[in-house]
Amino acid sequence: MYKTVIIGTGPAGLTAAIYLARANMEPVVIEGWQPGGQLTTTTEIENFPGFPEGILGSELMSNMRKQAERFGATFKTGSVKSVDMSKRPFVLDVEGMGEVIAESVIISTGASAKYLGIPGEQDNIGRGVSTCATCDGFFFRGKKLVIIGGGDSSMEEAGFLTKFASSVTVVNRRTELRASKIMQDRARANEKIEWALNRTPVEVLANGMGVTGLKVLNNETGEEEIIETDGVFIAIGHTPNTGFLDGQITTDESGYIIVKPGTTTTNIPGVFACGDVQDSTYRQAITAAGTGCMAALEAERFLEGL
Ligand code: NDP
Repeated sequence: MYKTVIIGTGPAGLTAAIYLARANMEPVVIEGWQPGGQLTTTTEIENFPGFPEGILGSELMSNMRKQAERFGATFKTGSVKSVDMSKRPFVLDVEGMGEVIAESVIISTGASAKYLGIPGEQDNIGRGVSTCATCDGFFFRGKKLVIIGGGDSSMEEAGFLTKFASSVTVVNRRTELRASKIMQDRARANEKIEWALNRTPVEVLANGMGVTGLKVLNNETGEEEIIETDGVFIAIGHTPNTGFLDGQITTDESGYIIVKPGTTTTNIPGVFACGDVQDSTYRQAITAAGTGCMAALEAERFLEGL
């Protein structure tokens, strides 16, 4: 039996691992199919304190992992299928590992990219439809691209994609963008970025070999239009990864875990939640890391009290 099992290896889970390992609590970290979390699919992180010149997301995550390992955290690969929280110790069913028993659990499973649910989208994933500009931008050298969404992710990824593409059209369902002013200004100053605002995506068009266009509804005229493109990048936000909890932990209507204000404690004693899986407001690497630290300290206190 382990004292603490941490599920997820983004900044929240890795910070919790650093703190618990350093406190000799021998944490076991279960990493899923995307080790390092969302930061591994972004480029440069400019706003994580301590890196005046910025740092690559993947490098930041790799450094955090090394730091946790240095103090004795153990990493295991597997996907957590379910956790029985009806009694303690908790029993996790982990694909590839079988049953894992833990006195306390820290959930830091983050959030996953949302899809639009329009025709042509799922069929063309990997053939021109992507939710990860950093992963797939490279394949579109000299091509025309579309990015859907008007948030910070879309602005950032549009800029990144212009390093490869001949042009990037931002498609947003409203005229107003949700992105912060600095990110909007940066995108607007980029000559390779074009704008198709007040347009709702209707269908991804493809010819069997790859994407050829995006059909959109012009909300002003009510007419459908086709934007010719070789690739459609989707940046419309994320869904918290809480499905495996099977309703045992209290969440809000969007699935984000509800924690007691100012803590990481969930409705189940001994189960803590940190990072994006419990944060629909800030969703920053630094806030995730901060709540990871809180979860570690709270888990430590919980274990001492047993
Ligand atoms: P956001 O939720 O901020 O933006 C999502 C965008 O997608 C909105 O424009 C939204 O439109 C649109 N959208 C959502 N659903 C649909 C749909 N079904 N069809 C069409 N459009 C849709 O998500 P982000 O991922 O951009 O950002 C998440 C958080 O991460 C934010 O807090 C952001 O500030 C932060 N972030 C910060 C960065 C940085 O500072 N470097 C970089 C990236 C993200 P609508 O506005 O109409 O709802």
